[in-house]
Amino acid sequence: MDTYDLVVIGAGPAGYVCAIRAAQLGLKAALVEKEEHLGGTCLNIGCIPSKALLHSTELFHHAAHGEHHGIVAKEVTVDVAKLMERKGKVVDQLRKGVGTLVQKRGITVLKGTGKLLGDHKVEVSGGGETKTVAAENIVIATGSSHAGLPFLEIDEKDIVSSTGALAFDAVPERLVVIGGGAIGLELGCVWARLGSKVTVVEFLPTIAAGSDDDVSKLAERIFKKQGLAIDTNTKVVACDKQNGALVLKAEKKGKEKTYEADKILISVGRKAHTDGLGLDNAGIETDERGRIPVDNFRTKAKGVWAIGDVIAGPMLAHKAEEDGVAVAEMIAGKPVHVDYNLVPNVIYTQPEIASVGLTERAAKDKGLDVKVGKFSLLANGRAIAQDATDGMVKVIADANTDRLLGVAVIAAGASEIIASAVAHMTYGGSAEDLGRTVHAHPTISESLKEAALAIEKAAIHAL
Ligand code: FAD
Ligand code: NAD
Repeated sequence: MDTYDLVVIGAGPAGYVCAIRAAQLGLKAALVEKEEHLGGTCLNIGCIPSKALLHSTELFHHAAHGEHHGIVAKEVTVDVAKLMERKGKVVDQLRKGVGTLVQKRGITVLKGTGKLLGDHKVEVSGGGETKTVAAENIVIATGSSHAGLPFLEIDEKDIVSSTGALAFDAVPERLVVIGGGAIGLELGCVWARLGSKVTVVEFLPTIAAGSDDDVSKLAERIFKKQGLAIDTNTKVVACDKQNGALVLKAEKKGKEKTYEADKILISVGRKAHTDGLGLDNAGIETDERGRIPVDNFRTKAKGVWAIGDVIAGPMLAHKAEEDGVAVAEMIAGKPVHVDYNLVPNVIYTQPEIASVGLTERAAKDKGLDVKVGKFSLLANGRAIAQDATDGMVKVIADANTDRLLGVAVIAAGASEIIASAVAHMTYGGSAEDLGRTVHAHPTISESLKEAALAIEKAAIHAL
């Protein structure tokens, strides 16, 4: 029986990163993957293909709406097949990159479904073969899959999860998106930009739930202005097919609403993936949400760890990667901890929505005495120059210590701007530190500095 220092089950951002870091530290690692390609949800059917489509459709939008810059392109059309082909090439390039990294690091890839057998053993079955491998450490990185609704069966054709919505072969005339979270907003925007009439139906009072209240309210106004129909406080409860169209029934504050659609995207969250993993054999039980309980990544079973979407915490690729690095380092004997409060969250719409740390409300709910600074992009020179004034930055600091508690940004390029807020918070920075940090002019990131200065009413470009 082949024996390793660690066997990682699942080759998404949690698993392959864990295996690479382990190999860097001199450990003998094997990576088990049931799908044809490495990279997991993120690379194959998540982060990367969605960002490829978001970029292509943004180009289309700019090409079709350049009149007020004096740029008039007549009859801008979109070739959906070509758009999808490019998306495929982007994914392929990165698959090759991950494959090369894994191979060059000397990691053994075992193709097949991994199952815990207990006693430090993993069974791998695939391609008609079954083999058993042994390892001192087993790392579960099996990720997540889309959640559904009991009355709507996903066929990935008309009623789709994100996977189907990343692969439509034509622009749907009417697309109803159930759930106004990251997936619903990103993919809703993709198809709306190409001309689909998109309606986002959200159960909670706000879209982009979990964002700061000011940001989610502004986001709703901006996306409505862009042509997205958004119904919050609305719960979809049933679906029928009438005269070829899909008819959704929903409840809004006790009243019934109906929506007709050609395609429906169900984006109501994701659930941990543990099917067929043999958790029983290792004596591991899942929590009420199907996730594997861990204590600093250690499961109840000796030598078995779990990382990424399959455990509690933000379901994000960069968080999964941090988990992976931490576990590899712990196995190699280094003490590590990942602070989930410092994991940034981004929704890649236009403008992008990015945040780190606490929202104003969450900070107050914790009983903290807070002070807040805000800055509107309407007063930012670069934003005006590039037609990107829809947005704002909000900085939340502790009123007694001035320590940064959270930053929320809705702006073009927010995904990049948030990185400096994360760095300040990682090193325990204060609002004054951020306000005194020199930012290049003209940049949208100057709004971050101005929002920090606004806490003491010292923002220069605001009254
Ligand atoms: P996964 O990526 O799900 O990987 C798990 C792997 O394990 C899979 O390859 C699976 O096939 C394999 N596996 C499962 N069970 C077994 C088994 N028994 N044996 C062998 N292999 C197994 N996050 C971001 O941070 N930024 C984004 O922009 C972003 N965009 C997204 C867009 C979409 C449409 C979706 C769906 C998700 C997006 N996410 C994004 C979330 C991100 O994809 C996940 O948080 C991330 O992939 C989790 O990594 P993971 O390694 O834990 O799991
Ligand atoms: P989500 O949890 O972000 O949003 C789901 C939304 O659906 C919630 O707001 C919820 O209130 C709503 N909802 C649930 N049931 C409903 C119903 N019956 N009717 C109407 N609304 C309903 O989940 P998601 O958008 O599916 O994304 C799944 C995961 O993938 C998230 O954890 C997210 O972090 C991750 N992801 C991240 C990115 C990114 O980082 N940019 C992009 C896509 C996905």
